[in-house]
Amino acid sequence: MKTAEELTNNLIAQEPFVQLLRQFKLKVTQPRLSVLDIISKKKSAISQPELEKLLGNQIDRVTLYRVLANFEEKGILHKIFDLQGTATYALCSTSCTEHAHHDQHVHFICSICNSIYCLDEIALPQLNIPANFQLNAIAVNAVGICEQCQQKK
Ligand SMILES: [Zn+2]
Ligand SMILES: [Zn+2]
Ligand SMILES: [Zn+2]
Repeated sequence: MKTAEELTNNLIAQEPFVQLLRQFKLKVTQPRLSVLDIISKKKSAISQPELEKLLGNQIDRVTLYRVLANFEEKGILHKIFDLQGTATYALCSTSCTEHAHHDQHVHFICSICNSIYCLDEIALPQLNIPANFQLNAIAVNAVGICEQCQQKK
């Protein structure tokens, strides 16, 4: 049983997420709040299996899948594929909107632990795509060894 104080603290902690969901005109539900809570606490991108582990049996797999798909569509999360081709998710920049992602930054993938970091401060190079191609997105992955794995050596 949680005490009244714990419950209140929990609600206060969730307030930014409640506002975020309202901003995107999404109903505030516990699965959505839990997913946002976990993703915002993690510095690197997170995969669905990883989320499942952290959520335990709070949310069933189908609901989680729908929450992630919905967040991606709305411009709350963006998807990055790791070196094994598994989809991982990270929070979007504030400029993302429904059907229009603007996460034009480099992703750093660690070849040891497979963690993915959004390097927001690095802008993507301008590419001169031939006029007969319509450019929708550019994905740049930098592969190397993350800070944590370097320390373990
Ligand atoms: Zn985005
Ligand atoms: Zn690493
Ligand atoms: Zn990113």
